[in-house]
Amino acid sequence: MKADALTLAHGLSFGDLYDRDGLVRLDGLFLDALGAADGDLRRRLEAARAEPDSLTRLAESELIIDLAPHLEGFIGGLFGIGAELAALRGEHEALAPIFEVRRNFVQRRAVKKIKADAAAALDGDALAAGMAALLGGPVTELSFARAVAGWLADEDTNSQALATAESYAAWATLSDAGRARHDGGVLFKEPGKLDFDHLVHHMVSEETIVGDAANGATCHRLDANHLRRREGFALTDAGVDLAGALGEANYCIWCHKQGRDSCSTGLREKAAKDAAANAAPPPFRKNPFGISLAGCPLEEKISEFQKLKAEGCSVGAFATMIIDNPMVAGTGHRICNDCMKSCVYQKQDPVDIPQAETRTLKDVLALPWGFEIYSLLSRWNPLNLTRPYPESATNKKVLVVGMG
Ligand code: SF4
Repeated sequence: MKADALTLAHGLSFGDLYDRDGLVRLDGLFLDALGAADGDLRRRLEAARAEPDSLTRLAESELIIDLAPHLEGFIGGLFGIGAELAALRGEHEALAPIFEVRRNFVQRRAVKKIKADAAAALDGDALAAGMAALLGGPVTELSFARAVAGWLADEDTNSQALATAESYAAWATLSDAGRARHDGGVLFKEPGKLDFDHLVHHMVSEETIVGDAANGATCHRLDANHLRRREGFALTDAGVDLAGALGEANYCIWCHKQGRDSCSTGLREKAAKDAAANAAPPPFRKNPFGISLAGCPLEEKISEFQKLKAEGCSVGAFATMIIDNPMVAGTGHRICNDCMKSCVYQKQDPVDIPQAETRTLKDVLALPWGFEIYSLLSRWNPLNLTRPYPESATNKKVLVVGMG
């Protein structure tokens, strides 16, 4: 969109978004709006800005999470995109039954009751036909989840339908045929066990192509369905859709609440029992390949942004991400995964944080004025307690030199 088509609220001009005085004024408008909606929250924010070091990490996280919906609402009003933000939130809410049913019905009930051998012996086509009859239409993840969520509200009345749904969920999650039918989905899934000797899935064959088995070179082949051919320089990986990102954000257990968000701060060895309270923290653990599990080098607030994203607060999640990682367009699922290597899940699939991060970025960029919103939040971000807007210019000249 052309800048001259943008009409900002509060009498602000496009140029104000690129000018420190304009940003200070914008910040004042935000504080006024916040104070009108929640006076206590405004006071908490102002106290935190005055003494940011006085906050514990948990208090900072809680403040950011409380502020994020207010920031999202303010951005909606500023850019005149309240309806688009409500629609985006609605997309999140519409998918919510999938994650609720995945955790409480598919993973904690169906696959515990019906083991893999029994699931593989089930007649998938007959089960699918039975489910379709119960649903009154084709079995999609959403139609299944919505129906099961409703049936669970009255288990006695719906016991027969729930029994069919249990069998279908176990077959779809545990059998080869079921997994193939729901390939790429997020509902019929349980976390896989991590095997560091077999991290590349979809391997169909290994053969020695040069020399003998002991000394030769081995050719590993992937299932043809998982090959991606590079044509020219275009990217070959589109990343996950919204359901895929929410699948990760809901798999995350939001460890910042316990101060165990190792994706952000690194996974450390256990402290010695007799260690003094002020002793240096223990070293980072290493994975079986000897890689230090130091977490995100930027200490991005991963747990917090995934909680906000799971709750449908996309701009708030994005603003949380870029407090520490303003160049998020250059990170995400095609670049780095230090964070997911350090996830608390060390024996099962870690949360695919980079996918959730990339999708959150894309959802904001897809909004009207999405780029302008990203650009603005990289200069003015009230979730950044230490530097919500740029410092005054020092008029010093700085030369930045690098070889990258
Ligand atoms: S990504 Fe992993 S370590 Fe980080 S908060 Fe979620 S579950 Fe915890």
